[in-house]
Amino acid sequence: MNLEQIKALIEEKNVELLHLQFVDIEGTLKQITITAAQVEDAVEGKIMFDGSSIKGFSPINKSDLYLVPDASTFAVIPWTVEEDYAEARFLCSVANPDGTLFEGDTRNVLKKTVARAAEQGYTISVGPELEFFLFKADANGNPTMELHDGAGYFEPSPKDLGERVRLEIYRALKALGFTIEASHHEVAEGQHEINFKYADALSAADNSTTYKWVVKTVASKFGLHATFMPKPVFGINGSGMHVNMSFFKDGENVFFDPTDERQLSETAYQFIAGLIDNVKSFTAVTNPLVNSYKRLVPGYEAPCYIAWSASNRSALIRIPAKRGMATRVELRCPDPSANPYLAFAVIAEAGLDGVARQLTAPAPVDEDIFHMSEGIRAEFGIENLPGSLELAVAEMENGTIGRETLGEHVYGEYVALKKAEWDSYRTAVHTWELVNYQAKF
Ligand code: GLN
Ligand code: MG
Ligand code: MG
Ligand code: MG
Repeated sequence: MNLEQIKALIEEKNVELLHLQFVDIEGTLKQITITAAQVEDAVEGKIMFDGSSIKGFSPINKSDLYLVPDASTFAVIPWTVEEDYAEARFLCSVANPDGTLFEGDTRNVLKKTVARAAEQGYTISVGPELEFFLFKADANGNPTMELHDGAGYFEPSPKDLGERVRLEIYRALKALGFTIEASHHEVAEGQHEINFKYADALSAADNSTTYKWVVKTVASKFGLHATFMPKPVFGINGSGMHVNMSFFKDGENVFFDPTDERQLSETAYQFIAGLIDNVKSFTAVTNPLVNSYKRLVPGYEAPCYIAWSASNRSALIRIPAKRGMATRVELRCPDPSANPYLAFAVIAEAGLDGVARQLTAPAPVDEDIFHMSEGIRAEFGIENLPGSLELAVAEMENGTIGRETLGEHVYGEYVALKKAEWDSYRTAVHTWELVNYQAKF
């Protein structure tokens, strides 16, 4: 969309306010609202803001930053069109006063990875699947621990009470330009998934950000709280963000090779090998919370061992059955609390590393790994994912992929943030400790 088309839409839809949206280091959506009369200034990148209070941004002595709206993300916000005047939004990158890309902006981090892939002739294609839970909210709109329904995998109404909510989410996403492919109740009570079409890496990260915002907003209109927290309830499945990725070159999917026994190309095997070789050092990015590691335990369709398979849902990496243009590698460890810009960047860089070093993928493991003994896993050479945020951050510091992908600014801020988060958790006294120790000792 160009400026003239944007102006025409503003006129036609009676848009009064423009939200300039961007994300902080955790991928949390932020916005500054201006009037539609300022659209020209906005598009020209003239809107300045104070970055000093944005998590992971600039130090106080260098806090003037500029927003650079991405014209392709302009959209009228569907739930405002019935009001007296409508609102619209842009997703933005962040620039320094001299016009250079601000190195603390995670959207810029992904742009750099996209550019690096392009130097090798690759376009990165990403199809993320973000699961979420619906909890009841109390009279004040605060989340309770009460799940919205008791339905399970693929169950319809009347057990699935989320059908209407998902329908409204579908409508809103469609109005925002999404192509929706599927929507269903997930395995756990109160858990759902809505799938949107794959796109280039930056658009897929923008879409993930928009999706989380829309899901939460629509749920709140139903008196519900939607959460992308990875493991809200012990004993049932957590929420993943499976990341399906492939590389394209000259419009062809380079992961597809019809002559191979699995119809996968050499590049695809090297990509898989790159993920396996680097995964421990990027888990702190794809699984960023203390809580993320409570999802990565055996028995809940989330991976905890480092292996790949054509079909096995207990494996870290699965190759969905589709071939041709749809050939892709599905990485199953990421969860939807990850910053999608950083997550897609580290995954792509890990894959590119495997291709650059021409790594060889280990043999696939088609047995159920959850039920393998430690001895058998050792025989297969199957390692574990980091078991906690603390271990994941240590692995990230030992490796190179995090520092090289995130860049000094984001890397430094990220590690400091995650260490502080771990320390806060480590020193807190949890309910589990009281339940197990208070009466006994
Ligand atoms: N919820 C599972 C996870 O944590 C995935 C289940 C599924 O999509 N079949 O990854
Ligand atoms: Mg799915
Ligand atoms: Mg799912
Ligand atoms: Mg999946």
